[in-house]
Amino acid sequence: MSPFTIENTADAVRDFAGTGLSVMEVSHRSKEFVAVMNEAKALVKELLKVPEGYSVLFLQGGASLQFLMVPYNLLNKKAAYLNTGAWSKKAIKEAKFVGNVDIVATSEDANFNYIPKGYTVPEDADYLHITSNNTIFGTEMLTDPEVAVPLVADMSSDIFSRPVDISKYSIIYAGAQKNIGPSGATLVIVKDDVLGKVERPIPTMLNYKTHVDAGSMFNTPATLPVYASLMTLRWLKENGGVEAMEAKNIEKANLLYGELDRNLLFVPTVSSVEDRSRMNVTFVMAEDYKSLEAEFLSYATSKGMIGIKGHRSVGGFRASIYNAMPRESVQALIDCMRDFERMKLSK
Ligand code: PLP
Repeated sequence: MSPFTIENTADAVRDFAGTGLSVMEVSHRSKEFVAVMNEAKALVKELLKVPEGYSVLFLQGGASLQFLMVPYNLLNKKAAYLNTGAWSKKAIKEAKFVGNVDIVATSEDANFNYIPKGYTVPEDADYLHITSNNTIFGTEMLTDPEVAVPLVADMSSDIFSRPVDISKYSIIYAGAQKNIGPSGATLVIVKDDVLGKVERPIPTMLNYKTHVDAGSMFNTPATLPVYASLMTLRWLKENGGVEAMEAKNIEKANLLYGELDRNLLFVPTVSSVEDRSRMNVTFVMAEDYKSLEAEFLSYATSKGMIGIKGHRSVGGFRASIYNAMPRESVQALIDCMRDFERMKLSK
């Protein structure tokens, strides 16, 4: 989170909008909180240039509940899924509770280290589901796919990191906790006319229409996470929006991948440049230096690098360089890798 988000949220925990109450205490129906929700929704629309005909929601249940809500609301005959990693697999598992799933392509054969290309989506699929950024495996789909069926995207770990053509998507969802705010809020952008087309009865809370009709206030929203999300959205706007974020993210990612391609001790796990995530940079020790993994981790930790251990299914390291991560912190990791290389190879 940006310092702007953290400081302003801390202030509102003590005294929200001059009410003398905490943002955690006021009614979600108070005019002050309604203004927060309305501004947050309006800023999402402004920053992402959301066209007419879409609703913006802040729900609960995380992206994981969206894995079920999407098929519940959209799947009639069958749904197409692109399997690009652990989160795609979890989405596929939930869709199978609801109906037939056609996995159009998978990169599981290579431990998800690339984005499949050239697949065909059946014309009669109710939608295609993609995971735009694969947080664990470090791959990202950096261009909006062109498909003839409604497109649904889990953008949990790359939303607001770059401009996206929203008109190509029917539903976009994202757990807040990477580029938006604290966990507890889940952003959903839904095209209104894709709803109401399935025959199954949909339980109230799982029905997007419930939340669209109630302006995302059907039940008590996650008030504190929504407030913090609003602070991030204001910060994004003040800092040039998603276009400026993209430029910074490209710069940070290029710096880090450049070092990984140069440094003899490390290799990035994603070799094809166009599939490399700008948010989660995954890398391992080069074949000849595998035995140095634990030593580099403790060296980097001693230099203040926190949370760079890779997910157990990939091993090695993962640098998560979300929007709020400054370029200087990426440079500090690079310096650490260079110093470690010098220490080991000059012996
Ligand atoms: N999808 C992606 C791409 C994620 O990175 C994550 C969490 O890291 C999830 C889904 C799960 O999100 P949540 O914990 O909000 O359910």
